[in-house]
Amino acid sequence: MSAVASGAIPLAEYHTLNLPVYAERLLLPQSEEEVASIADQADIIIGEGSNIFPRKHLPAVLSTRYLRGYRVLREDTKHVEVEVAAGENWDAWVRLCIACGWHGIENLAAIPGTVGAAVVQNIGAYGVELAPFLVSVRGWNKSIEAWQEIPAEACKLTYRHSIFQTPEWRDKFIITRVTLRLKRQYEPVLTYPDVQRRVDPSRQHDPWHLYQTVRAIRAEKLPATGSAGSFFKNPILSASELQQLREKAPDVPFYPQPDGRYKVSAAWLIDKAGLKGYQIGAAQVYPRQPLVLVNTGGATPEELWQLAQYVQKTVYERWGIKLEPEVRIIPE
Ligand SMILES: Cc1cc2nc3c(=O)[nH]c(=O)nc-3n(C[C@H](O)[C@H](O)[C@H](O)COP(=O)(O)OP(=O)(O)OC[C@H]3O[C@@H](n4cnc5c(N)ncnc54)[C@H](O)[C@@H]3O)c2cc1C
Repeated sequence: MSAVASGAIPLAEYHTLNLPVYAERLLLPQSEEEVASIADQADIIIGEGSNIFPRKHLPAVLSTRYLRGYRVLREDTKHVEVEVAAGENWDAWVRLCIACGWHGIENLAAIPGTVGAAVVQNIGAYGVELAPFLVSVRGWNKSIEAWQEIPAEACKLTYRHSIFQTPEWRDKFIITRVTLRLKRQYEPVLTYPDVQRRVDPSRQHDPWHLYQTVRAIRAEKLPATGSAGSFFKNPILSASELQQLREKAPDVPFYPQPDGRYKVSAAWLIDKAGLKGYQIGAAQVYPRQPLVLVNTGGATPEELWQLAQYVQKTVYERWGIKLEPEVRIIPE
């Protein structure tokens, strides 16, 4: 039997911003059979709640965090294809892969949350994204009351986005399994300057060394609790938009994208707009990484909401750039 709790269920343990919000119901299925049988009762689907901002009390929330397990589907000398349950913790999964000699996702070490949500958000860090490793996802489609297998191309993973964030799919498709294709050979990705600087050249061939290096860098930059990671996305600009921005901000860091556009550092835009450490109540622009908004202890959803709006408004007035949230704000 799946755990179903009703009444005012505190969500503090079910999201990472530690806000004092409640859910009317909390559904915690432990198997795919249970997902199918209770899906119609769920209003909002979450994993570990590390990328959501519940602004208000929520109706019925289903968390997939107790869907566990994995199995190897096929392997050859170069690759392995593994199917993993959506509720597996992402970081534990990265560690298991390293231990099994399955490579490619080491740079995604220590990203909070579940494997299922990693697809929804197309997680990325330190020069690596999930997208190239995805083969397919399986899930329960509430709209047609059936299981569906969606191939990677149809999931349309782009920068922190996938079809599962669109109104047609969000909260209607519950991802229960993810198939990934990983490499048998370890080829470290050291493109990100911080990683390059910190990796000991004599240990370049040790995936655990890369894993620990990324973990250490992250621990220095990110708050241990009270955040949902980057609150905003890095803006993607056309060449002419970048040109306009650089007239006001000649030093702004930017990174060419494969589609000919440019990703601009939102942290830089927020920092140079004078917002580092800015606080409304107990909600703060994290001083060590201004892209992160943090609940320093006892913040209300309203304080965090006011802070997010203030950051957006100030950045727009200073640089003419509209920051888009990366976190899912519920309700939108
Ligand atoms: C300290 C910190 C650091 C972070 N660093 C990074 C980083 O470096 N890179 C990065 O990309 N992200 C980062 N994040 C964001 C977060 O870790 C990822 O977005 C993660 O994938 C969220 O997983 P989750 O299980 O907590 O998802 P949730 O927050 O529970 O949900 C996120 C979204 O996915 C949907 N969803 C979740 N599970 C399912 C499912 N099974 N089926 C359908 N929809 C589902 C939800 O509706 C929601 O829209 C960070 C967060 C924190 C707190």
